[in-house]
Amino acid sequence: MDIRSFLAEKKPTDVKVIRRNSSLREAARKMISQHVGALVVTDEGGELVGIISERDLMRAITEYDSTLVDKLVSNVMTRTVITCALHDSIVDVLFQMKSNEIRHIPVLDGAELAGVISIRELTRAYELLQVEANTDALTGLSSRRYFLETLASELDRSRRYGHPLSVAMIDVDRFKRVNDTYGHEVGDEVLRALGNLLVRELRTIDRVGRLGGEEFAAIFPETDIDGAKRACDRLLKTIRAAKIDVKDAKISFTVSIGLVKADPATRDPSGILKRADELLYDAKARGRDRIELDTPHKPPHPMDEDQPTATTSEAIGTGGR
Ligand code: GH3
Ligand code: MG
Ligand code: MG
Repeated sequence: MDIRSFLAEKKPTDVKVIRRNSSLREAARKMISQHVGALVVTDEGGELVGIISERDLMRAITEYDSTLVDKLVSNVMTRTVITCALHDSIVDVLFQMKSNEIRHIPVLDGAELAGVISIRELTRAYELLQVEANTDALTGLSSRRYFLETLASELDRSRRYGHPLSVAMIDVDRFKRVNDTYGHEVGDEVLRALGNLLVRELRTIDRVGRLGGEEFAAIFPETDIDGAKRACDRLLKTIRAAKIDVKDAKISFTVSIGLVKADPATRDPSGILKRADELLYDAKARGRDRIELDTPHKPPHPMDEDQPTATTSEAIGTGGR
């Protein structure tokens, strides 16, 4: 997001200006009456020559004598004004303000003054942007990006303390049919309902995200593969029994799950998700509505007979449909 869109959203965009030959008393009065923490200082021709903030006034009080209030703004204002442009990004401007320790920054549109922004309002806008980027707009779950960040830090934590961690990739079965039969909007409704169901069914310490499309994922901290499998079994059962009320229809659906445990050497979140995705693919190939997980010590599944045995996985669930 750039400064232009930020200013457009900000309601009163008019700039509070004071002439450089005004007194500090006038400057202080104007700041109070206009509810601003800084004024842009202009010369007689309206050119920007400085900025005067509450902080400048405070500093002046400590340095000047009792005739201070009648001194001119130009004695006290900050002359080397750092400005920003409409096309600058919020993050860059925030960085510039923090590193220069300034609290207000004038925004220039070419040579024209377009506004003044305080670090407080810019920080708030930045925080909102972060929340937006971390949240999947349809379901309110973690976005893919934030889910991967969370997975990376959970992997770190599990490795450091030697605690177990499991990860599930969850994909809606035959979802295209839902869209084709009921339309995309109903499809969206089903995805929202599934998001709610995942949050409701899993523990609060489990982290759920939507990776994209009809694909979700869950992190099970402090949970070994057996515990995570029990949780996923419960999920399959609940989802299978659920009927989503949309328009005049009650929609039932199933999901398939690829489940992996993080081994102590695992550092890379995308490697874990890739393995979960492979297992998910196996679950689809074996009939859907089931879980596939790594079980290196078990014999291969009978259906794997003509498959390479390097990757053994076990099918769990209700069997092929
Ligand atoms: P499978 O059991 O193999 O997973 O079959 P599928 O139909 O679920 O899988 P496929 O990958 O062929 O199709 C996924 C469909 O999900 C395609 C698209 O129409 C739908 N889809 C993806 N994102 C969204 C979304 O945000 N909203 C809706 N309504 N549908 C979506
Ligand atoms: Mg699918
Ligand atoms: Mg898919």
